[in-house]
Amino acid sequence: MAIQIDGKLVAQKIREALKIRVVDLVQKYHIIPHLCVILVGNDPASESYVRGKSIACEKAGIKSTILRKETSVTESELLSLIDELNNDSTVHGILLQMPIPKQLDSEAIIHRIRADKDVDGFTPINVAKLANAKPGLVPCTPLGVMRLLQEYGVTVAGKHAVVIGRSQIVGKPMAALLLNANATVTICHSKTIDLPAIAHQADILIAAIGKPAMIDSTFVKPGAVVIDVGISKVDGIIKGDVDFATVEPIASLITPVPGGVGPMTIACLLENTLTCYEKLVN
Ligand code: NDP
Repeated sequence: MAIQIDGKLVAQKIREALKIRVVDLVQKYHIIPHLCVILVGNDPASESYVRGKSIACEKAGIKSTILRKETSVTESELLSLIDELNNDSTVHGILLQMPIPKQLDSEAIIHRIRADKDVDGFTPINVAKLANAKPGLVPCTPLGVMRLLQEYGVTVAGKHAVVIGRSQIVGKPMAALLLNANATVTICHSKTIDLPAIAHQADILIAAIGKPAMIDSTFVKPGAVVIDVGISKVDGIIKGDVDFATVEPIASLITPVPGGVGPMTIACLLENTLTCYEKLVN
């Protein structure tokens, strides 16, 4: 039987520590850390994520501003808004809530964000820094996974980590972080042949696919650490990529969904905001 990784608890610990850090920093610099979130349209899931981020910021003593734009907003209007925020010394972090309407070039818009206010770690400079193992801003979800592994005493160096998923947001930065921590990393995706056999070699298996309960016990080596990043809604219930019922008995450590990786994403967003703040006000 696996030990369940309590992401809620770890995230809470991080958030408490951040709250104390914010008090110290505000006393020192007399400037309140400030995150601006750009929300385009009124997709209910995005609304809910943005609300969650905003509440978490307020609880940590970080000011958060939600800048709402209609679906009809043009690319040049969004680029101008980002320029404004880039140049505003009272703003320390900028986040574009995804997805945005298809007619907008999300890459061009994200790339406009100043690298030192890029709390999501999606701009080319931060992507390059991560690829070259240099300090920079790292995407929040994979950063949260690394924190969980650390918190639960998982040795990464020398281990075989298999990451299923190669998105810019999760899979690729996850693989880079594991590689930078000296794991031997395999990245799998939808074209991978015989995925179960490759996954079965993993000491650390990360599922970031978006296919509910796809990873059952046939994919998992007994004793493996299994991290489930997936979030899918099935009949109104949140499901991960891992078939928890069959995998939990053979894994050594496992994240539940919900309550595993999810809460860490927000905690790491707050951490990234403070990292930006400290660099900018110093
Ligand atoms: P994407 O859809 O961008 O990427 C999914 C990846 O899974 C792709 O690389 C795709 O391969 C791969 N894939 C799809 N089907 C298969 C398959 N049958 N076999 C092997 N690989 C497959 O998703 P994201 O990376 O953005 O997100 C992944 C999951 O994580 C989602 O459920 C998302 O909701 C969740 N998520 C959770 C977060 C959290 O805070 N916990 C934060 C962000 C995301 P290919 O590249 O070949 O298409």
